[in-house]
Amino acid sequence: VNPLLVDGARVIGMTREDDVTEDGALLVEDGAITALHGEARKRAAEREAGGTPIERVDAAGFWLLPGFVQTHVHLCQTLLRNGPDDLPLLAWLSAHVYPGEAAHDEETMELSARLGLAELIAGGTTSLLDMGSVRHTDALFRAAAASGARVTSGNAIMDDPDSCPADLVAGTDAALAEADRLLARWHGTGGGRLRVAYCPRFALSCTERALRSAAERARVHGVLVHTHAAESREETALVEARTGRPNLVYLDEVGLSGPHVVLAHVIHTTGAERALLAARGTNVAHCPSSNAKLSSGIAPVADYLARGIRVTLGADGAPCNDRLDPFAEMRLAAQFSRLRPGEPPLGAWDVVRIATAEGAAALGLDRVGTIVAGNRADFVLLDPDAGFARPAGWRGDPYGAIVWSFDRSHVEATYVEGVRLFSRSGPSPAGALRPSAHDVEAAVAKLRGRGHS
Ligand SMILES: [Zn+2]
Repeated sequence: VNPLLVDGARVIGMTREDDVTEDGALLVEDGAITALHGEARKRAAEREAGGTPIERVDAAGFWLLPGFVQTHVHLCQTLLRNGPDDLPLLAWLSAHVYPGEAAHDEETMELSARLGLAELIAGGTTSLLDMGSVRHTDALFRAAAASGARVTSGNAIMDDPDSCPADLVAGTDAALAEADRLLARWHGTGGGRLRVAYCPRFALSCTERALRSAAERARVHGVLVHTHAAESREETALVEARTGRPNLVYLDEVGLSGPHVVLAHVIHTTGAERALLAARGTNVAHCPSSNAKLSSGIAPVADYLARGIRVTLGADGAPCNDRLDPFAEMRLAAQFSRLRPGEPPLGAWDVVRIATAEGAAALGLDRVGTIVAGNRADFVLLDPDAGFARPAGWRGDPYGAIVWSFDRSHVEATYVEGVRLFSRSGPSPAGALRPSAHDVEAAVAKLRGRGHS
């Protein structure tokens, strides 16, 4: 692959609020950013003089930003989009999501993941943490491998027969063995883009033995743990009734806390639980669209940030947002923060930071999330003139426009490892990944035919 020079963009590096370079440039070699701005142009000219062809992208007029990192999604649920929109979490899981997941076969699972990945990439998401499902996780990884995106996933561990549906449950040892098998098969493949995490679904779906063992195995292998916590009041009350402890205290006791742990939602927490998050360095995946649709509540994000807790963003599954769009999540995160009495509003810089650099840090991706020489070349080009975001001149920084007036129609192109996965103006790998409407509806008919209505 020849070196790539992306030239002329407004480069928003996300290392600091003032890390914005007008008429910037970056040189990409072997999937990495090897030089920026004047140095990038100089080196590209040297390579060319030495006989190496340079691929050039004229990015004048575009804004270049690190790719968005979504720390909580469910690719297995993309085919469940536009389902019931009036149920709270636990009823919605039982009525729609669990039966839908149980009805999957390898083929529908792969198609669901392809549809979700095509949408995520088109919206500028380059890295994501997925929850998987109980079965067919290899199909998810096959789709992820084909997508070119940076994907961490695993099988959702649901081993408690008292709280899981009979057709969506696995024995404790079988579920853990499946996670170990996936780790051996997929972790580090795709040139390092694909990784495996232990994914106990949530406290109520798992036996204590499964939670403890998943925590221990993740520590042994040095990989992430992905779970849900403190999403609805009904859930936290059930966890407390069952364990005698608040949700996050219980998770901490079984070993599910620390900088390698990502907890989705984390809305209903006590002061003691928040102190525990800060002390352990556990990551929070804020999912504002989902939290609104399922009437779950508004997470106290400003308080978490003030305590030094790392907050990141995720769209959650397609049936609870119902679009896998980082711009929708950023805008709603900013809006929600203004509806929490007594807490300061979330500034646009903080919102973009949690959607990029903080997400990458939570996923342990130390060469992703900022635009600096030496990092992997995961970035998006945004076109400020694509929609109705003008004028943009009232404030000097770009963050307000990105959070408040841009949407995913502003994404001109998405790159991972220097490879263009999406282009607004022409064919692209993400376009090829996207199943046809006919295939999507045929797959949904299969799910319905297996008993999910
Ligand atoms: Zn979720």
